[in-house]
Amino acid sequence: MNIALIAHDRKKEALIQFVSAYTPIFEKHFLYATGTTGKKIIEATGLPVHRFQSGPLGGDQQIGAMIANNEMDLVIFFRDPLTAQPHEPDVSALLRLCDVYDIPLASNMGTAEVLLHGLERGDFGWRTLDES
Ligand code: PGA
Repeated sequence: MNIALIAHDRKKEALIQFVSAYTPIFEKHFLYATGTTGKKIIEATGLPVHRFQSGPLGGDQQIGAMIANNEMDLVIFFRDPLTAQPHEPDVSALLRLCDVYDIPLASNMGTAEVLLHGLERGDFGWRTLDES
């Protein structure tokens, strides 16, 4: 499965702790991240992560493009609900595309835990079904 990992600045430490805790699951999948988030995850865990642009420079849109191309299976996006983001329109667009394409999305650690357990249990196997 292709998994997107994104965290706003004040949530990056929480995401790193989360990815570290679930490394045995994450290492079985393909990871994608916005620039700074990806850099920090690589430094902390050593997991291979494909890094896009930093979020404010278009990284969220690049991940959105993967969703629109049916190339992203899961999105974990730890948002900071208390800080205004200069790229808020990009953030909204990404969340919107998750809903357009029914892509499982966790915007906080509580939901991310549930998604990871579901992922491990095979709950997202429907994502790999061939629709042709
Ligand atoms: P960053 O982008 O990982 O490059 O910090 C995340 C974001 O703010 O959308």
